[in-house]
Amino acid sequence: MKPRPFDYVRPDSADEAIAVLGEYGDDARVLAGGQSLMAMLNLRLADPAVLVDIARIPELDAIRDLGGRIEVGAAVTQNKLLSWPKLAEKLPLVAVALPNVGHFQTRNKGTICGSIAHADPSSELPLSLALLEGEVVLRSKRGTRTVGAKSFQLDMLTTAREPDELITAVRFPVAPNRKAAFREVARRHGDFAIIAVGAIIEDENTARIGVGGIAGKPVVRRIPLDGAKEAVNALAGELEGYEDLHASAELRRDILRNLAPVVIEEARACAA
Ligand SMILES: Cc1cc2nc3c(=O)[nH]c(=O)nc-3n(C[C@H](O)[C@H](O)[C@H](O)COP(=O)(O)OP(=O)(O)OC[C@H]3O[C@@H](n4cnc5c(N)ncnc54)[C@H](O)[C@@H]3O)c2cc1C
Repeated sequence: MKPRPFDYVRPDSADEAIAVLGEYGDDARVLAGGQSLMAMLNLRLADPAVLVDIARIPELDAIRDLGGRIEVGAAVTQNKLLSWPKLAEKLPLVAVALPNVGHFQTRNKGTICGSIAHADPSSELPLSLALLEGEVVLRSKRGTRTVGAKSFQLDMLTTAREPDELITAVRFPVAPNRKAAFREVARRHGDFAIIAVGAIIEDENTARIGVGGIAGKPVVRRIPLDGAKEAVNALAGELEGYEDLHASAELRRDILRNLAPVVIEEARACAA
């Protein structure tokens, strides 16, 4: 299938993009890397009157070190962040999660913010933002607001963004140490994860884990290092999981039970 006809605008600034979003509201769609949106247009799951292409707005194409947080602008591609020299030092979890997002070619176009805006429950980047307790910066004609990752993603493909708001950036807190690990189970490398697990070590007693692919949004929990396996078992029992073409709910819970302790152990073994 092909999309229905739509208008296309390519603003030079974030203010211009926000003005178009303010004018069209629900009838406008932001186009970033197009790696999810183009498929949605072709399948007519999205049917906008106008596309607002933000990929070449220079002010949105920046990675900024704000001290305790790293701010990634809306036009920054996944490969640009992956090749940022300070990534492993400042955001070790993102450094290990990002290579699992699609393929080199999709990462060349796909943006960090686009993935978080799209809010797929199996996606690695919304999971990383939730696990690190990061935030999303939203701007509209009405002003700027910052929403914590936990409140931003509401459910599968559903977020707290209003139709006239542009995500201008996301902010990842800088890791207190380098003890982070990420693994996922997928049919093939580059496919969406059936189950994805990220872990960071908070202190000598506690890990924080994030699980993708088991609920409508990433699940984040603190797990005691002493008794991690039992705590993961209890978490898997608590989560319903969902069934699709790729896996039953039971298989998803089973993968979680087996994968999470390995990821926690890997994070624990990282040099600080
Ligand atoms: C073959 C293939 C494999 C893939 N594998 C994976 C994978 O393993 N894991 C994974 O996570 N993803 C995967 N993807 C999706 C990919 O990561 C996309 O890049 C990402 O989901 C969307 O980013 P984008 O910049 O392309 O956004 P787009 O496709 O342009 O937009 C996606 C949605 O977000 C909205 N949006 C984008 N930017 C903004 C903004 N700044 N403000 C407000 N709304 C915005 C759009 O309006 C649209 O609704 C895959 C894609 C392909 C084609």
